[in-house]
Amino acid sequence: MDHRIEKMEQYAKEYHIPIMESDGIEFVLDYIEKHHIKNILEIGTAIGYSAIRMCLVHENITVTTIERDQERYELALQNISEFGLENRIKVLYQDAFSVELEETYDMIFIDAAKSQYIKFFEKFEKNLKPNGVIISDNINFHGMTHTKEPILSRNVRGIVRKLNMYIDFLKENPNYNTFFYDIGDGISVSIKQVK
Ligand code: SAH
Ligand code: MG
Repeated sequence: MDHRIEKMEQYAKEYHIPIMESDGIEFVLDYIEKHHIKNILEIGTAIGYSAIRMCLVHENITVTTIERDQERYELALQNISEFGLENRIKVLYQDAFSVELEETYDMIFIDAAKSQYIKFFEKFEKNLKPNGVIISDNINFHGMTHTKEPILSRNVRGIVRKLNMYIDFLKENPNYNTFFYDIGDGISVSIKQVK
């Protein structure tokens, strides 16, 4: 394993940055490779870990990624330049809800505020190519979207309720065929249906 990747993983652990879990990222990288994904839109850059790893799958991959936190945005730029990927990863320092994009993508990866997933999906699906896929991370939210145990924190309860609404939204969405995987912190893969 590349020491620069390990360095990012250690940093994330030390400073509690919620980067993708290792099983989860491996699953997504595999998906990108198998489906010849070329351009990716990511909502939620953090320090650039997943963007960099996705980009490294193949030299023709480009990533546009959005981050609203200034410190994380700056760390992401630093990490991206350590890999010399400035020309293939474009980081937008903005709130995703104020971003307007014209381009269309093979894949949209949603990994930002967990209570806003339906809104991210609805905002960016116009930027998805006809055969494109929307992948979302943290669908299980540490197992809490499935648990029957009472959740004590009101804040966490709110997030779990919203994630469950997102799961139903995906299941009922006739324009996408969605698969759910118990990998990492739970991943959904929503494939746009061609009509
Ligand atoms: N994809 C990253 C982890 C992202 S963590 C990885 O696996 O390496 C989620 C990030 O989304 C946080 O850094 C947070 O600041 C950012 N975020 C949350 N809501 C956002 C929004 N509305 N617009 C832009 N960024 C957002
Ligand atoms: Mg995540």
